Amino acid sequence: MNLRHKIYELPFTHPFTISKGTKTVQPTFVVELEFMGIRGYGESPAIKYYNIPVEQMAADLEAKRIFVEKFAFSDPERYWHYLHHLFPNNPFLVCALDMAGWDLYGKLKRKQLYQLWNLDTATAPLTDYTIGIDTIDNMVAKMNERPWPIYKIKVGVENDVEMVAALRKHTNAVFRVDANAGWTLEQALHKIPLLKELGVELIEQPLAKDNWEDMATLFSKSTLPLFADESCVFEADVEKCHQHFHGINIKLTKCSGITPARRMIVRAKELGLKLMVGCMNETSIGTAAIAQLAPMLDYVDMDGTLLLKEDIAEGVQFDQGKIIYTDLPGLGIRFNM
Ligand code: MG
Repeated sequence: MNLRHKIYELPFTHPFTISKGTKTVQPTFVVELEFMGIRGYGESPAIKYYNIPVEQMAADLEAKRIFVEKFAFSDPERYWHYLHHLFPNNPFLVCALDMAGWDLYGKLKRKQLYQLWNLDTATAPLTDYTIGIDTIDNMVAKMNERPWPIYKIKVGVENDVEMVAALRKHTNAVFRVDANAGWTLEQALHKIPLLKELGVELIEQPLAKDNWEDMATLFSKSTLPLFADESCVFEADVEKCHQHFHGINIKLTKCSGITPARRMIVRAKELGLKLMVGCMNETSIGTAAIAQLAPMLDYVDMDGTLLLKEDIAEGVQFDQGKIIYTDLPGLGIRFNM
C-alpha cells in the first residue's frame, strides 16, 4: 500500500463554544491508502481535551510509515488489530487509518459499507443540529438560520436553564442538551427536572468523566435519559456505563475507528444501553463513516460539516436531519487529496 497524509485547518462558520472553551478553526488529519490503484480515505480531527494534536498524528505516522505501507491488506478488522498494536498511544491516528482501510475495502468490493453489513438506511435516525454556547440572541439567530427538527444545545454554564427556556419560545423542535461534564451532582439534580419541563429528551455527560459514584446516584434519580460521552471513550468503558448511564455516545476518533465502534455497538445492545454516535466536527469524510453506522443507532449527532465554513469532500447530505446517502462505494465519498 502507498500512504499519503495531509493536515487541513477548517474555519467554523461561527466561533464554536462548549463548556470547555471556544474554537474558530478545526484542525483535521486526513490519510490516503492506495492499493492496486484504488484510494481509501480516513480522517481524525484533533480535539484539545484529548491531547492528540494533528502534528502528533503526522509524526507518529511518519515514524512507522514503512510498517503501515507493508501490511498485506485483506480486511479492515485485521488491519485495525495491526494498527492498534503499532500505535498504542494514538487512537486518533488509528481511527484515520482504520477508516481509510474500510473505505478502501468497500471500494474493492464495489459496495458502500452499510450494504456489506446488510443494514437498511431507512432505519437511520435523524441527525440533530448543534447550537454552541453563546448569548441568547445569538443562539436564537443560529437556530433560525437553520430550522431543524432536533437541536443539541451545549450547556454547562450558570444560566443554562434560562438559555434553554429562551430557545424554547422560538421552536417546538426536540431538544437534547450536552453539559460536557460541566455540572455537579447538585446542579444536575436541580436542572434536569426543569429541562424536562422544557421538552428536553436527553442529557449528555452531566458530570465529570470519572465521577462514577455521583453518576450512580444521578442515574437512580434522573427523570431524563443520561448519555455518556467523555465517560465512554474506549471499548472497556461500555461495561462501566451500565447502571450509570442510559446510553452511550460513541465517537470514531476517541474509540479508534469504525472497527471498535462496531464492537461497542454490539456490547452496548447486549447491556441494554441506548446508542448514539457523535461527531467531532469532521468533514464529509468522517461524517460519511458515521452515516454507515447510523442504521444501527437510536440517536445520531453528525452535523460537523454543517458547522464548518468549508468542506473538503462530498458525501452525505441532509434534508431536515434525514441522511441522504450517495451511491458511491466504500464510505460513499467523492474526494481528491
Ligand atoms: Mg458530547
